[in-house]
Amino acid sequence: MAYLNEHYAKLQAGYLFPEIARRVKAFNDAHPEVATRLIRCGIGDVTEPLPAACIRALHKAVDEMGAHDTFRGYGPEQGYDFLRHAIAQHDFRDRGIAIEDDEIFVSDGSKCDGGHILDIFGVGNRIAVMNPVYPVYVDTNVMAGNTGEPVAGGYEGLVYLPCTAANNFVAALPDESVDIIYLCYPNNPTGAVATRAQLTSWVKYAREHHAIILFDAAYEAYILTPGIPHSIYEIEGARECAIEFRSFSKNGGFTGLRCAFTVVPKNLLAYTRAGESRPLHPLWLRHHTTKFNGVAYPVQRAAEAIYSPEGRQQVDALVGFYMENARLLREAVVAAGLQVYGGVDAPYIWVRGPEDISSWALFDFLLQDANIVTTPGSGFGSAGEGYFRISAFNSRERTQEASQRLAALDFTKARQFA
Ligand SMILES: *Cc1c(COP(=O)(O)O)cnc(C)c1O
Repeated sequence: MAYLNEHYAKLQAGYLFPEIARRVKAFNDAHPEVATRLIRCGIGDVTEPLPAACIRALHKAVDEMGAHDTFRGYGPEQGYDFLRHAIAQHDFRDRGIAIEDDEIFVSDGSKCDGGHILDIFGVGNRIAVMNPVYPVYVDTNVMAGNTGEPVAGGYEGLVYLPCTAANNFVAALPDESVDIIYLCYPNNPTGAVATRAQLTSWVKYAREHHAIILFDAAYEAYILTPGIPHSIYEIEGARECAIEFRSFSKNGGFTGLRCAFTVVPKNLLAYTRAGESRPLHPLWLRHHTTKFNGVAYPVQRAAEAIYSPEGRQQVDALVGFYMENARLLREAVVAAGLQVYGGVDAPYIWVRGPEDISSWALFDFLLQDANIVTTPGSGFGSAGEGYFRISAFNSRERTQEASQRLAALDFTKARQFA
């Protein structure tokens, strides 16, 4: 008899994005005449083509694969040296952060890395997540058996750290002891960033509790405000308590190409049941070499091209393009009289609706009255109730159109959708 992983049965059925898709389809079916007016500002996927430097690197690498002399088969599971070196040099050492090439593990995505990382931790760790939260952190822990049953607004056994306007959407330290902490800054969905002082207090907490921070820096390239840390390793002591996840999805627009990396410092320790400390680096290396066979060679060449002078310029232009969208959307929401957060160091705008109007009412109102698809804040956790997220990943034309529609809305009318 084959047994299944019963933890999967705990996963809450009404997953956010399918529910959004269902409502959009129902609206389209009922109003086919306005289907072409629909502007999607929901899912966080990029819209602009890859940087020219990456395309050129891809073409060249593909040609290499077609000739005997330059053909490559299996590469190193952890990534080619050329890419690990480029990453460690440009993203870390050039910024004064001591990270060695072999502390970089190249993969096909941060989403996968975030799920797989649980493989090297024992069961029974107490997990803290932010609320609102990127759903992947929660669901992967449910699948791994690190939670209890679903309860109103979350899962038993998880420690939820409320991120609200009162704390600028940066999680406060928990009163209790936790073992693994997920932090994501710049944040999806709130667009918030964490200051050096705030990250320093988290590193201090983690070291005192022998806890490990899983730091998701997927939106690092969007930080424009000087002084905001781009990496957790800018904080002293973070090498002893943090794993960092980075991705080429949002800076280079690799969401369809797939390349990311995880940083596991060699002096990062975790504990055996007997209380002895052991480094995690050999475990992640073993995980990677056993369960993964590397990212496609042309894709790694495309990622390397991001670090070329031309590639950097093109990424800056891409980020600038999306951030101009963010500025337009922010202005529009302010013009509509709502409180707006994010969109300054992140491509997400986090909007507070009028008092007592639910996230789903705001979603339905925006869909019906403005034909704009957003993401209801409550879908990211109970602390997101009353908010909605607008993504700045869009064409300029659609962003301008969405901004005009948003600015003209009377959001108190959303009350009728409650
Ligand atoms: C987009 C995103 C990522 C990147 O995921 P990939 O699998 O590398 O595409 C990681 N974390 C968050 C919070 C994101 O929004």
